[in-house]
Amino acid sequence: MTLAPASKKQEQFLNSDATITLNPKHVIEATTAGLELVGDSEKRGCKRYKVVSCGHEIITQPSHVRRNHWSCTTCDTNKVVQLGAKLGLEYLGPGIRSGSGLYKLPCGHVKSKSYQQLRKESFSCDSCAEKTVSDSLNSKGFSLLSKNKSQTVAMCTAGHVSRFNNGAVVRCSFECKSCVRSVWEQQALSAGLVYLSSAKSGNRGLYKLPCGCSKELRRDHVRENVWCCDNCDDTRFNRPGVVYLLQITVESLHWLKLGFSNNLKTRISSYGLPSDAHISVLTVLDFETCREALLYEKQIHSTFKSKRLNPAALRKYHTVSGHTECYPTSLTESIIREFNAKRTGDTCTRQ
Ligand SMILES: [Zn+2]
Ligand SMILES: [Zn+2]
Ligand SMILES: [Zn+2]
Ligand SMILES: [Zn+2]
Repeated sequence: MTLAPASKKQEQFLNSDATITLNPKHVIEATTAGLELVGDSEKRGCKRYKVVSCGHEIITQPSHVRRNHWSCTTCDTNKVVQLGAKLGLEYLGPGIRSGSGLYKLPCGHVKSKSYQQLRKESFSCDSCAEKTVSDSLNSKGFSLLSKNKSQTVAMCTAGHVSRFNNGAVVRCSFECKSCVRSVWEQQALSAGLVYLSSAKSGNRGLYKLPCGCSKELRRDHVRENVWCCDNCDDTRFNRPGVVYLLQITVESLHWLKLGFSNNLKTRISSYGLPSDAHISVLTVLDFETCREALLYEKQIHSTFKSKRLNPAALRKYHTVSGHTECYPTSLTESIIREFNAKRTGDTCTRQ
């Protein structure tokens, strides 16, 4: 029987004998970390290990193994390839860092993305983000002055300079504070108030009331002219008020507007409707105080809440206020019936 030349297996076996001479401490550390020490590596300070769970070989430092701080490069790469394919990205090869891949994004740009980035589906393209920022600024009439990694400096059409977080710009959720302030001042004036400053909560402001008191008010309450002074008896809320139902017609569109006021005429003129809008007062219910009128108005709104028209769409016509509580004209009869029931003291007439 002649001996065959040493096969690959035998070679490996002979090499594996060398592991016996390896530092037993490293062998134990490898076993503890779920690895098997294979031998030395050409990479300085590193050794070759076999991952017990998957069988792949990795090259890493014994100190990393000791801290159990290792990962299987082959498995990591497989994961990024698979995940990338699932997200519709074309895998081009290994990425800049280990465990990352080089991908062609749907936009056509090529980027290195890690497994973590892909898993969060945050494979946004910074090259495209640049364009999104400039598009977003343009859409709001801002011009870009400068931009760094986190912030954008831009100028509004009125010439005010603002600094925004890039994220807010991309989401299009930014505005010129100076311009917004002048809108708030305008809304305050038409409600007979003076705007003083912002409040802690973003949807509130500090206002000076006609009685001389200062009060924090909700901005939408100021816009709708629904506010009162807690200190003074002489509040608008103690004066007589009405709940009204209007039919508004602009060109071929009709809708109902339900509201309360202490002065219907000025209320209608504060909507900012187009000059060719036709307004008919369908019914008006008198109350001894605005407070009672407001309560009744809220009650009707809650009854018909589900049928309310989309405020955002009505903003086109109600350019200043009154866009929030509008209804289709198909509800005319039902709402008038509610009014009549209230007038005659009947309480339950709901359909
Ligand atoms: Zn592996
Ligand atoms: Zn891109
Ligand atoms: Zn501005
Ligand atoms: Zn007061």
